[in-house]
Amino acid sequence: MPKQKYILKFSDISIKDLPQVGGKNASLGEMFNNLTKRGMRIPDGFCTTAEAFCYFLEFNKLNAPIAKSLTKLDKHKTDNLKRVGLEIRQLILKGKFPPDLAKEIKKAYADLSAVYKTKNLDVAVRSSATAEDLPTASFAGQQESFLNIKGEKQLLTAIRKCFASLYTDRAISYRDDQGFKHEKVYLSAGIQKMVRSDLATAGVLFTIDTESGFKDLILINSAYGLGENVVKGRVTPDEFFVYKPKMVIIKKELGSKKFKLIYGSKNKATLNLRVDKKERAVFSLSDKEILELAKWGALIEKYYKKPMDIEWAKDGQDNKLYIVQARPETVKSQAQANILEQYILGKKGKVLASGESIGEKISTGKVQVIENAKQLSKFKTGEVLVTKMTDPDWEPIMKKAAAIITDSGGRTCHAAIVSRELGLPAIVGAKNASRVLKNKQPVTVSCAEGEKGYVYKGILPFKIKKTNLKKIKKPKKVNLMVNLGDPTQAFKYSFLPHQGVGLARLEFIITSYIKIHPLALTNYHKLPTNLKNKIKDLTLAYKNKTQFYIDQLAFGIAQIAAAFYPRDVIVRFSDFKTNEYANLIGGELFEPKESNPMIGWRGASRYYDPKFKPAFELECAAIKKVRDKMGLANVKVMVPFCRTVEEGKKVIKILKENGLVQGKNNLEVYVMVEIPSNVILADKFAEIFDGFSIGSNDLTQLTLGLDRDSELIAQIADERNEAVKILISQVIETAQKNKIKIGICGQAPSDFPDFARFLVKQGIDSISLIPDTLIKTIIDLNKKK
Ligand code: PEP
Ligand code: MG
Repeated sequence: MPKQKYILKFSDISIKDLPQVGGKNASLGEMFNNLTKRGMRIPDGFCTTAEAFCYFLEFNKLNAPIAKSLTKLDKHKTDNLKRVGLEIRQLILKGKFPPDLAKEIKKAYADLSAVYKTKNLDVAVRSSATAEDLPTASFAGQQESFLNIKGEKQLLTAIRKCFASLYTDRAISYRDDQGFKHEKVYLSAGIQKMVRSDLATAGVLFTIDTESGFKDLILINSAYGLGENVVKGRVTPDEFFVYKPKMVIIKKELGSKKFKLIYGSKNKATLNLRVDKKERAVFSLSDKEILELAKWGALIEKYYKKPMDIEWAKDGQDNKLYIVQARPETVKSQAQANILEQYILGKKGKVLASGESIGEKISTGKVQVIENAKQLSKFKTGEVLVTKMTDPDWEPIMKKAAAIITDSGGRTCHAAIVSRELGLPAIVGAKNASRVLKNKQPVTVSCAEGEKGYVYKGILPFKIKKTNLKKIKKPKKVNLMVNLGDPTQAFKYSFLPHQGVGLARLEFIITSYIKIHPLALTNYHKLPTNLKNKIKDLTLAYKNKTQFYIDQLAFGIAQIAAAFYPRDVIVRFSDFKTNEYANLIGGELFEPKESNPMIGWRGASRYYDPKFKPAFELECAAIKKVRDKMGLANVKVMVPFCRTVEEGKKVIKILKENGLVQGKNNLEVYVMVEIPSNVILADKFAEIFDGFSIGSNDLTQLTLGLDRDSELIAQIADERNEAVKILISQVIETAQKNKIKIGICGQAPSDFPDFARFLVKQGIDSISLIPDTLIKTIIDLNKKK
């Protein structure tokens, strides 16, 4: 049989064919030929070549009229761009297929149908432009895709529409910005067997953390139905993190997944359906599937030797996973990890809306709510774009925005990808923002506060701090660590020059992710109905309520441990006071009222108390899971507020009973030195613990006899008080004599450079600082004095 002129089958394509089939299709062919044999699944297909596209234009004599239309282009005017784009698209849509080209397409379609033992195979028709998917420009969603296409007639129409989509407004504008000549870019249509994810799930996978650029992470977003809903940000998907070096899941977050895109009827190829509540309450992928996808993601990344942005789908008929697209990730892999840019909000204001933050910047401007494409011309440069969701067509105005806020969408949706590429702060999944925020209202959009982004009322002041990390050298005499309890910040701080985490407080994970008192979970079945319902809503994906606590804690710890692996991460067991524990959901039922919670039922005293022990055992289970199951044995543990040596012994015994044995799998158990008794009896504490960490906050409170929470005596509270310094010098000396590690994790060295210098002089092994003050402290300690 003579080789077809205008068609290339996946099995004939390699990455070298990019000039003929564009980046997307070349990458598919390359993977189809090289990675399927390693167990990865890709549905089969074929492509029309650039030659086919040129032939189509020539046959219909379209080159001259297209060029003529383009001379009229003034893309800074939204209306003009719209007019020119439409004109060119209509020219192409009116074109006819040259008979020999149509014949080749029909033949290839019949052959592909035969591979799947059917006649009119349902296929996806995707656009792949020959200047697409370069490492520096994603061209994300520039051209159109058509799903669930059946039969020759529909297929030819879809291909023609793909050809026309080379001239979508956004593609014209994007090419112009990136400096590509329009007439030198061609369109190849990729025709691929549909994966029946309308009956299952689909989504996106990145082999790099899209926020921080951390390279050891795989991020998967997943929702029900065809993947377009995730890509376009029409739904908030489930989110999973996999730590690549160990291939373990370190985060599972349930998304609302409100809609699913399914196959439609005659006139409409697809339609969106509401997902019922029960289905939304469970994860859309099993752990096994998450890991299978992650493994493929790593394989693709290794093959292409660069971070990748991948689309995948699960087929509801054969229940198998497939990769349907892969292109290089374009933002974080290009970023310079050496320059630390920190946006710092001067003061907070009233929160008007919040959602998932994209990027780490802060921006201000007046709100402009855009409800649909017809209103695009209303948008002015420097305004804050607020909408239910953006569409790839909106890119010309997204570029002009100060910030972008969308009601729906997750981390990998189109709005998020484009915002990152444009370097704009964006908040996605901001629920009712487009209703709450009003046109012309001045707002501050802050993505500088971790995973959550906030829209504040009014224009608030902020600063930008830049540091070249290459120039920062580690101080000679001391190890520097960071205090970090918020897992969402961990990946970003992994780039900072330090030796690990000196204090990971569990309280942040408990308040932000769990929100429920641990004993309310261990006693779930005995709770009053209203409380039970409230807890049920928060723990939807979990039948076993205590497992929810263990898993959430383990995931939070694992993210911190993975971010800094193999550096030490010292995780401190919970140290809420009774009033703080009482604030958690169901807390009042289990917490006594104390007059002095600061010196009450806290720290070690809780862990062996039969009233709290079942809760403490959940903490132990979480640590064990992270260290032994996930393989993150860089996690060490620390016991806070340990009043007596006997208490220390009791806690160590319980740890042992729960599988946390000192020395086993390199486990070290630290104790905080934050009560004068810890200093006075340091020799004895040193006999049972592996290390000390000074809690100067509590040590100051208890040495000076002042309540940390009382503002009446706050002026006396100064860690530099001589009495406190004497105790600190003393315990450093005792630790050295006993040859056990001694560090500090209280606030004092972060606040006072002279205090940090004092500690170094005393010979302390490590100082743990809040991340914001790390660089400043290093510079100060390195100064010749
Ligand atoms: C301390 O007491 O210094 C300390 C680090 O612990 P916390 O502030 O959590 O009590
Ligand atoms: Mg303390």
